[in-house]
Order: sequence, then structure tokens, then C-alpha cells
Amino acid sequence: MNNFTILGGGIGGLSLAIALQRKGIPATVYEAAPSYKPLGAGLGLAANAVKAYQEIGISEEVVAAGKKLKFAFGKTPDGRIISQTDMDAMTRRFGVLNSFTIHRADLHEVLYRLAAPGSVHTSKAAVDVQQHTTGVTLTFADGSSAVCDYLIAADGIHSRIRQRLVPETTPRYAGYTCWRGVTQGMPVGMNPDEMSETWGPGRRFGVVPLPGNRVYWFATLNAPMNDDRMRRAKQMELKEIFKGFHFPVTALLEMTPDDQIIWNDIIDLKPMRRFAFGRIVLMGDAAHATTPNLGQGACMAIEDAATLANALAAYAPEEAFRRFETHRIRRTTSIVNQSWNFGRIAQLENPLLMTLRNAAFRMLPESMIHQQLRDLYDVSFHP
Ligand SMILES: Cc1cc2nc3c(=O)[nH]c(=O)nc-3n(C[C@H](O)[C@H](O)[C@H](O)COP(=O)(O)OP(=O)(O)OC[C@H]3O[C@@H](n4cnc5c(N)ncnc54)[C@H](O)[C@@H]3O)c2cc1C
Repeated sequence: MNNFTILGGGIGGLSLAIALQRKGIPATVYEAAPSYKPLGAGLGLAANAVKAYQEIGISEEVVAAGKKLKFAFGKTPDGRIISQTDMDAMTRRFGVLNSFTIHRADLHEVLYRLAAPGSVHTSKAAVDVQQHTTGVTLTFADGSSAVCDYLIAADGIHSRIRQRLVPETTPRYAGYTCWRGVTQGMPVGMNPDEMSETWGPGRRFGVVPLPGNRVYWFATLNAPMNDDRMRRAKQMELKEIFKGFHFPVTALLEMTPDDQIIWNDIIDLKPMRRFAFGRIVLMGDAAHATTPNLGQGACMAIEDAATLANALAAYAPEEAFRRFETHRIRRTTSIVNQSWNFGRIAQLENPLLMTLRNAAFRMLPESMIHQQLRDLYDVSFHP
């Protein structure tokens, strides 16, 4: 039987390992990190990710580790509503749970637990890859190597494997930077069933309740790339940047210790035309990293896992990789582009344009929103 190696034990890599193993296809994961620590912030997983986990057969375990929300709001800094989505109504309409939130570390924990014992190897950072006629050889930073028949690169946006195969694809900066945090506890008076995103001039603040009375928040700001002031900005600076924003923005910042604030610039990959390279295929962020504006990066990695596992169960590996590429490239390209454009609109700074944008969002007919969601959630995992 063919031997499949997955490089990168993140959301995509672990989901694929489980999907393959449940089909009786052995898969080994090599992950650079020394262990799965309770790090990171929150994630919103939309109905398409839930559908993909249903396809893989683990949606109950994953959903049980998260929190279902009732409403999502778009707001202005003074708290006026720009848009409103009734999540329960969407769940009823589309017949699958629409949007739940989960701590990234909790998702990793569930996936790691569901992967076959002994199939995930940590402290294995690949530094080189060689494809030959009979297989693929990975070389790791610790000097060891592994030979496999086929390699699935799920090693994230800075993928070493992609850099090797397509050196010209480098991440592009979206023009805004981002801070994230998770509070232990919820500000008194905050609604635990509502998430919101508030749009100020060139800045946004998102509030996302998590299970266990925790709250995930994110904050964005238009800024130069890799700016030292942004890197150093902590609670005090963020309170200044988001001064005047409605409750519970300041309260959440005050509940987050400086050493728990994560910072990174927002980057993505300009859509690529190829994911399959003979015995190697790229998936997840390694193939189609997106800006987080639509909350779809992890969802697409999970969709990839369900699709690739179905392809490998039905076709010879190289044919499966090609079919996966054909099946996935249009959808992922469209989501990456939509998310990029949405981010530009959401990060507007000009007051007149902001007023026009907010008015346009308030007037969006419900039918149009439903159609957009239907397009997003109408996904097939059979290439
Ligand atoms: C601010 C922000 C908010 C987001 N919010 C959401 C959201 O709400 N919903 C959503 O769906 N998505 C969201 N995303 C996107 C989501 O985080 C990614 O799309 C998702 O993590 C991609 O999964 P992946 O498995 O492809 O890559 P990753 O999660 O990046 O995993 C890659 C793995 O590969 C390992 N690795 C890397 N290099 C090597 C190597 N050389 N050797 C071995 N292992 C290696 C890494 O350690 C890592 O474990 C957000 C992203 C950001 C930045």
C-alpha cells in the first residue's frame, strides 16, 4: 500500500490524516512544533467546515469543543448596527450548523486525539525536499530524513515545500496589521451568544465568545508592513487606538495581559494556478492562504482534507492530486479574492466612503446575503 506523508500537523494536516486513516489509508504527519501547546486565539468555523467534518466523520467531536452563537453583528464604533445575521435562522435554512467558534488550541487537541496513535511526529521541521521517480525524501532540521511514496504539504502560508516548488510565490501584505487575544472570563453585561465586528476608520475590532466563558477578540489597523511600533503595541496602545469604541472593547483589552496579546501582519498568497506537482500536492494555507476577513482560511483547509481523502480513496495518487487541484482551485481562488476585496472595504479610512459603505451594507437585501452564503456553503467534496 502507498505510504502518504503529511508535512505540517496544523488544522489542515491533522484533518487530512484523520480523514485518510478513517478510510483505511495509512498517513504519517510530521510537525515542526515540539508539542501541541494551548497557544493561539479563537476561530470561527462556518457551515462549510462543519459539512467537511461531517464528511470526514468527526463533526460531533469538533462541534462539542466549540460554542454555537445566535447572532453576528456589524457595528459602528458608537454601537449602531450596520448588519445583522441570525445564525439560528441560517442553520435552519441551510440544514447545517452555521458558524460556531472554537479556541484554536481546543481544535488542535481534538484533532490530535482523533488521529491514529503514533501517527503524528512532533519536533520534525522539514528543511529540504527531494522528489525522485520512486518517491519523495524529506530532510529534517534534526538531521534525520524520511522517505515516502507521496507527500502532502500542509505546512502553512510560509510552506517550505511551496517555496521549493514555486519559489516566486511569496506572501503579500494586505496593508493592515492585527492583534488577537483571549480573555479568561467575560465582561459583565456582555451577551455570550453574540459575535460582532466593529468598523472604525482604518481599524476594526471583533468580539467572539468562546466556550468556557472566554472571549476571543481581534483588532486590525492600517499600518506599514512589519512596523516596530505595531509589534510593540500592547494593552495600553490598543486602548488608545480603540478609544471611544462601544462596550465591551475596552473591557476586553483590560482583561488581556500584555504577554497574551498576539501580533501579526495580515498576509495572504496571490492565487496560484497549480497545487499538484507529481508526487507532491499542496493543501490549506500552503496552497491558498487567505486574509481572515471572511473567516474562511481554516474552513478551506478542512474542505481540502475531506476532498483530498475522497480523491485518494477513489483514484491513483497522482490522478487524485490532479483532480483535487482542478476541483479546488476555482473555489479557493474566488474566496481568496473576495476576502482580499472585503478587507479593503472594511479597512476604509475616508469618512465619506465609510458612510456610503455603511449605508450600502444596511440596504443589502436579505436575499443577496442568502445567495452569498449559499455559494459559500454549497460545496462538494467529490472531485
Ligand atoms: C488573524 C487571523 C484570524 C483567522 N481567523 C480565522 C477564522 O475565524 N476562521 C477560519 O476558518 N480561518 C481563520 N484564519 C485562518 C486560519 O488560521 C488558517 O487558514 C489555518 O490555520 C490554515 O491551516 P493549515 O493547516 O493549512 O496551516 P497552519 O494552521 O498554519 O498549520 C501549518 C502547520 O505546519 C507546521 N509547519 C510549518 N513549517 C513546517 C516545516 N518546515 N516542517 C514541519 N512542519 C511545519 C506548523 O508548525 C503548523 O503546525 C485566521 C488567520 C489569521 C491570521
